[in-house]
Amino acid sequence: METVSGRAPGEGRVSKSAKIMAVVGVLLLAVAFYALRAGNVNDVTDRTDYKAKLKCRACDHEFTAELQTAARAPFKCANCGKMTAWQLWQCNQCGTTFVPDPVGDPPHPPIMVGCPKCSSSLTGMVPVK
Ligand SMILES: [Zn+2]
Ligand SMILES: [Zn+2]
Repeated sequence: METVSGRAPGEGRVSKSAKIMAVVGVLLLAVAFYALRAGNVNDVTDRTDYKAKLKCRACDHEFTAELQTAARAPFKCANCGKMTAWQLWQCNQCGTTFVPDPVGDPPHPPIMVGCPKCSSSLTGMVPVK
């Protein structure tokens, strides 16, 4: 019985280089994708806004605001209209909520701040669902 081989001479080599081409293509795509991501880090979730709990340092009004990711504190108070609303923080140790004193010039929220009540460092911005 004659065995019929469907393989043409050199097919093995061709499919190997095709595989290499595919790998290179995937790598190029990955690099391009990474470059796009790196160029616009805010675009990871395709959103340019997020919800944040704010508190006005002028009138003590607490409210939830939709903030642009590019926007920086202070924000406009929904109650008195002054640009004195800052992100509200909370202590994960004792539950106290507070607005950290702004630092620097121009004033901006500190990156790390201890709880004013129990001085725990387990603090963070109040999450908004
Ligand atoms: Zn206010
Ligand atoms: Zn605390």
